[in-house]
Amino acid sequence: MLVNLNDLLIPAKKSGYAIGAFNVYNLETIEVVFDAAISMNIPVIIAFGEKYNYHNAINLVAQCVRELAYQTSLPIVLHLDHCKSKDLIIRAIRAGFTSVMYDGSSLANSDNIKITSEVVKIAHAVGVSVEAELGCVPAEDTGEFVPEDQLTKPEEAKEFVEMTNCDALAIAVGTIHGNYIGKPKIYHQRLKEIARAVSVPLVLHGGSGNTDEDIGLAIDEGIAKININTEISNVAVDKLKKIFTDGYSGHLSVLFESIKEPMLEVVKEKIKLFSRGKIGLI
Ligand SMILES: [Zn+2]
Repeated sequence: MLVNLNDLLIPAKKSGYAIGAFNVYNLETIEVVFDAAISMNIPVIIAFGEKYNYHNAINLVAQCVRELAYQTSLPIVLHLDHCKSKDLIIRAIRAGFTSVMYDGSSLANSDNIKITSEVVKIAHAVGVSVEAELGCVPAEDTGEFVPEDQLTKPEEAKEFVEMTNCDALAIAVGTIHGNYIGKPKIYHQRLKEIARAVSVPLVLHGGSGNTDEDIGLAIDEGIAKININTEISNVAVDKLKKIFTDGYSGHLSVLFESIKEPMLEVVKEKIKLFSRGKIGLI
């Protein structure tokens, strides 16, 4: 069944575990995330990013996810990831998304507050939850470490949440989108300070590539939603490279099927790590 972020993240925050938000791009990735969640009896967030909305895929993704969600009693969130367009947010809500992320992190704080508040009013009117972002979670190839001055500031986060009424807040605490150039660094002290200042569940973007210890600590410190994209993509691409290196010349459908197993393993590993043994049947 479909639920919104609050249904999953409020219990997660209270009980000290996190829910995985896994990026999907096509039918295979959607099926893999469902298979992993159902096999472990642990809810997940299916995340579809604005940047993957080629040729209006948003409606097709919504239909696929809705169909699979209706076949299970496991709570599932259909979430629009990183969206800078209010128009697309409204289209996602109309298509059946139960949660949206408005990403105004590149704007001045006052503009981010203004537009996030507008999105929250629209989404809440129809029971859709809103994730917002404050601080800079950079894209890959932007350097080894996120400098401290780009991290989310606790007092600004507190004000932002109070003024926007958002349901969850993505924060910058050192993680990076995509592949890391060097060793990932999470600023744990900053994370703890933000968690103390802010009432809503906190979200960690750029979850791929961090050590299990760092992720476990981040959950203990207040992270309730963790986004995983790159690691899923990497294992599928690696598998395809190997298949072609071995001289594959079979059918396309077999190729699609062959990348599901490694992706499934990654998603299951992450779900297990994030659950901290506090939810589901592991
Ligand atoms: Zn992100």
